[in-house]
Amino acid sequence: MKIMSLSCNGCGAPLDATSETRFITCQVCEARLQVVHEGTTVRTEDFVADEEVRALKLESVEEEVDELRTQLRLSEIDREWEVQRQEYMVAGESGEKMVPTYAGARVLAVSAFGLVFGGLICFLVGNLDFGLAAWGLAIVAWVCALINRASADRYEEARLRHRNRRRDVLREARKSAH
Ligand SMILES: [Zn+2]
Repeated sequence: MKIMSLSCNGCGAPLDATSETRFITCQVCEARLQVVHEGTTVRTEDFVADEEVRALKLESVEEEVDELRTQLRLSEIDREWEVQRQEYMVAGESGEKMVPTYAGARVLAVSAFGLVFGGLICFLVGNLDFGLAAWGLAIVAWVCALINRASADRYEEARLRHRNRRRDVLREARKSAH
């Protein structure tokens, strides 16, 4: 086996190769080189293909890590929202927790108006006690409607905050992907 003197493509340092050598790594600059035998001449070439493949692999690993990080962040935000929304829920008729809706507030408001009219009719027919009772209930229904609407507002605001946080994370992920 003949020892050949070559020089590194990167830094020019001398390299020892035999006629069998196909690949060599420079001890000085750590460049990976391909030994190219062409007839009687031998030269070294940067082993670019290998580097490129490695760089591409690294890039796709980094992309995967970014993707996982985004998924993790989203599930964190979702978990926080799950805890938060419990606090914004209201007690239903049988005490179970439920999402406050505007529909509930509307039903209560309509009931309040019905009670006002009912009370008015009681007054007209001279039944003052029923009339006052109906108006008292109307006030209660109206207050409940306002409380219900405020709860629905709070819930809706919290839901939008959660949605925006999610959107920001996704937007950030898209930005860093480019
Ligand atoms: Zn070198």
